[in-house]
Amino acid sequence: MIDFELSAGTKMTKKLFHQFVDSSFRPLSREFDEEEHKDPADLIHSIHELMKGGGMRGMGSMAGGGEEGAEKKEGKPKRPKEQNLMGVILAEELFWGDAGLALAMPGPGLGGAAVQATGTPEQKERIMKRFTGDVPAYGAMAITEPGCGSDTSAVSTTATLDKKTNEWILNGEKIFVTMGKRATETYDGFVVVWATVDRKAGRAGIKPFIVEKGTPGMKVTKLEHKMGIRASDTASMVFEDCRIPYNNILGTAEVAVDKEKTEGFKGVMKTFDATRPFVAAMAIGVARAAYDFVRETLDKEGIQIRYGAPINQLTVLEQDVLEMEVNMKAARLLLWRAAWMLDRGEKNNLEASMSKAKAGMVGTKVTQKAVEILGPLGYSRKLLVEKFMRDAKINDIFEGTGQIQLLVIARNILGYTRKELK
Ligand SMILES: Cc1cc2nc3c(=O)[nH]c(=O)nc-3n(C[C@H](O)[C@H](O)[C@H](O)COP(=O)(O)OP(=O)(O)OC[C@H]3O[C@@H](n4cnc5c(N)ncnc54)[C@H](O)[C@@H]3O)c2cc1C
Repeated sequence: MIDFELSAGTKMTKKLFHQFVDSSFRPLSREFDEEEHKDPADLIHSIHELMKGGGMRGMGSMAGGGEEGAEKKEGKPKRPKEQNLMGVILAEELFWGDAGLALAMPGPGLGGAAVQATGTPEQKERIMKRFTGDVPAYGAMAITEPGCGSDTSAVSTTATLDKKTNEWILNGEKIFVTMGKRATETYDGFVVVWATVDRKAGRAGIKPFIVEKGTPGMKVTKLEHKMGIRASDTASMVFEDCRIPYNNILGTAEVAVDKEKTEGFKGVMKTFDATRPFVAAMAIGVARAAYDFVRETLDKEGIQIRYGAPINQLTVLEQDVLEMEVNMKAARLLLWRAAWMLDRGEKNNLEASMSKAKAGMVGTKVTQKAVEILGPLGYSRKLLVEKFMRDAKINDIFEGTGQIQLLVIARNILGYTRKELK
């Protein structure tokens, strides 16, 4: 039985979340775009007061209680907690509010996703509990390096075990770390750093490590000046003889002897399978923000969209608006499926990439079309539409570019290995 209808509880949570970001994020959008990297401390404080106990950026932790009531009803079969499904639904609203500010809010972020995907039960509990406390924490994840981007298996940062002190020593450079600065300097932050424990072992030797805020040897060297999502920081970092406790390796330190068994590296993919749907939600949220401006403007001008009119009678404008809607809806369905599978513990590598590939394209095209339809008004800083166009593009770049998603999709469908199709 397939059911695409949201429950009353989910609809209510979504509505409340929407009202909340509309009144708290939107009024600050322009200010935080223009004053790149401005500290959103006041906003964080007021939101934290409202949402005490839950992470704000931690998309997985945005799951509300909408579905839980249904689970408890007598006589009804137990459904899995739809934490990720609820998470992406709320993420769409959050990023509708403002993508840069949404990313700049405390929460587990990519770092938390990596912990969930690769940590032992003890590590998950130890590390994730900071996101349920009173102090909002930041998590970040660093894979990308000057010589390693799309091909994440080319990581060259090293982690060497000092057998005398039983500590790992990290050395290397990471770039483009989302919220890297705040995760290393404020609140109860940490960065998950991917490093190789054995270069000869190739992908099998790549492992994730928790580096806590303030660890000597970890230093932010630069913040990027960006086209979009300017409220969030994107940091370059160096690790120079950065010593961390042995237990900060996530999962096992064992390197598979069989090089085809790339358990360490599989953690990267598992992390992305969980986070790509959230990037898709971000893309759809930003696209919808731009679309809403178009509809409001058309309404003010008294221009109606004639749903159901024969195609040969539709104006170009009507066709454009309908195409925007169709694409956003198609992307959303792919997204919900990817998140739904995640909630059921099903392998969603293909669906996560499909949802991100589609939503990344939709985000770019819908926001561009919105600027085009609104003309000079769309291009002007008077409205936020030009900002949405700038904010949208990143979804087609980070956590695997659009091209890389297409590669993953093709490999899955055609049954090719990474070596056979690159
Ligand atoms: C704002 C921002 C935030 C980011 N946040 C993070 C973060 O938090 N953590 C982190 O680790 N990284 C982060 N990144 C890095 C991001 O994930 C990488 O930039 C991205 O994966 C692309 O890698 P690259 O920059 O090396 O580009 P490249 O890999 O050099 O790609 C350049 C171009 O070539 C294409 N290409 C590459 N390989 C192939 C192929 N095999 N087939 C077809 N086309 C190909 C790509 O699609 C792209 O168009 C962030 C980047 C940005 C811009």
